[in-house]
Amino acid sequence: MDISQIESKSVLTRTSGYLKSVCSHSLNPYIGCGFGRSSCGVGCYVRFNPWLTRGREWGRFVDVKRNAPDVYAKTCPREKSWARGRGHPFSIFLSSSTDPWQPLETKFRITRRLLEVMQTYPPDELILQTHTALILEDLPLIHTLAGLCRLRVHLSIEGDRDCLTGLPQPPCSLEDRIRALKEFSKAGVSVVACLSPLYPLQDAHRFFSLLAQSGATAVVIDHFIQGDGTPDGSRTLKTSLAQAINKVSPQAMRLSYRDEVAQIAKSYLPVGISSQGFAGQYTQ
Ligand code: SF4
Repeated sequence: MDISQIESKSVLTRTSGYLKSVCSHSLNPYIGCGFGRSSCGVGCYVRFNPWLTRGREWGRFVDVKRNAPDVYAKTCPREKSWARGRGHPFSIFLSSSTDPWQPLETKFRITRRLLEVMQTYPPDELILQTHTALILEDLPLIHTLAGLCRLRVHLSIEGDRDCLTGLPQPPCSLEDRIRALKEFSKAGVSVVACLSPLYPLQDAHRFFSLLAQSGATAVVIDHFIQGDGTPDGSRTLKTSLAQAINKVSPQAMRLSYRDEVAQIAKSYLPVGISSQGFAGQYTQ
């Protein structure tokens, strides 16, 4: 792993494209991701972004934005008034192109320091997106912040299997991610399970029942078609993620599978589809 500590001029990025309907800003404490060589990294859409990778192999580098908390504090008032001036809440997605609780976070604590600074400069809305139960280490801070802004935790849980044959291990076991759902729910923090990208399910009824019993407030269901930044899923189709899904269930390769699964999920929980779901818009 190639680790660099860098200084950033800005950390609050005004959103465009897929995220524009979700939030006003994204916030990435790191460039690159220490989970890049695990199962989620195989189809991770960020690996196809040449501006971020700059020729480096996905999962082999992380740039640590060591001054991110200071830059956030400095630029937050300006970005808040920019968003509000356009009639939108100042809403932050943390994070869109890295995992804020990746392994290096335990050493550098950039995400934790950002959450601390947000106690003084809270956004209007905060979405915390992660693949790992390591987020539980910041539960007290997150709980406090939930009293200062509209906050929800998004836990990526692609399906009801720990891994698909042919893919590496996941960044965090399914069991630990379900445990994280329960802990946030117990603490009164809104927590959403994100099936993104949707894996073939073994038993959809049992899975959504488990998520509901674990305290998830909603589920987001996102297929790699439309969800990977291409209209036809062509990015994912070039990766071994598509082969792994196809091997388990050719039916799950079709966008219609997402809608079939969503129908079942609605018997148990509010359901959001793709970007609308990430934006917190659900139907039941
Ligand atoms: S944790 Fe998120 S950003 Fe990191 S490799 Fe997995 S999908 Fe990509």
